[in-house]
Amino acid sequence: MDLKINFNGSIQDEAFISVLDHGFLFGDSVYEVVATHGNKLCFLEAHLARLRNSAAGISLEIPSEDEWFVEQISRTVQSANFEETYIRIIVTRGVGEIDIDPGSCDRPNIIIIAAPAKVYPHNYYEKGIDLALVSVKRNARESLNPGIKTGNYLNNILAKMEANRLGAQDALMLNAEGVLTEGTTSNFFFVNEGKLFTPSLDCGILSGITRDVAIQLALENGIPLEEGHWPPEELTHAEEAFVTGTVKKIMPATRLDGKPIGNGKPGPITARFMRLYDQLLDEKYGMQPAQGRSQ
Ligand code: PMP
Repeated sequence: MDLKINFNGSIQDEAFISVLDHGFLFGDSVYEVVATHGNKLCFLEAHLARLRNSAAGISLEIPSEDEWFVEQISRTVQSANFEETYIRIIVTRGVGEIDIDPGSCDRPNIIIIAAPAKVYPHNYYEKGIDLALVSVKRNARESLNPGIKTGNYLNNILAKMEANRLGAQDALMLNAEGVLTEGTTSNFFFVNEGKLFTPSLDCGILSGITRDVAIQLALENGIPLEEGHWPPEELTHAEEAFVTGTVKKIMPATRLDGKPIGNGKPGPITARFMRLYDQLLDEKYGMQPAQGRSQ
């Protein structure tokens, strides 16, 4: 695949990292994924703020300023020259000894990958996806706080594999207390009696940037929304559900454990959010080519 990779400021077609980088050895790294609309970087400020927050959460000092990131990301996207771009920013602990103590790592490696935007099948948006409530529990906040976006994604990978085995497109995870948290790379919303519900941050979830936008859109459009702790039984009577993420945007979820959610079709509130989100992107970043969802 044609990629451009910015490795500590130098743009290359291929890049290689030392096997002694603690990001590789121990998943000791943080990352962000940024999408484009009209090939403009969406919500970049929020992503850079979260990257810093994640780094602070694992006591990783990022040696570069935001201005450096903005410049390097723009350079990399320009050099890749895709119609729409998927950008992955990774900051690793750096090269050190083969020992989990990060004390031997003296300089983080900063990698920016520009790849063609991911495209999900159209029918994921038209028909909705299947979710599986998996047995793998989301990490406890006291163990590895899901609010920190680290390169250690095994918790989610295990959940995703279980969902695959169950024939679903994604997993929905509970926390150790048995309340709903999130998908493997997305936040979760459901509708009951016309009102929106979503797990609150203290359930142990990533503070998704798309989730924040969806909450803001609900507020601005007078759509009632409540954040809280919801057991999975709440979904038995749910009318609609959707997941949110930088790449997925707003994606309907229409089946849970093989059973329809509501009538098993994307509902009117989900459709409204999909429209509102697309409109917001158009307003902020300009119109997108007609064939639509290219992430
Ligand atoms: N939860 C998890 C675990 C994720 O990996 C992601 C994707 N970054 C999300 C939620 C959605 O976050 P965002 O809207 O910022 O992409």
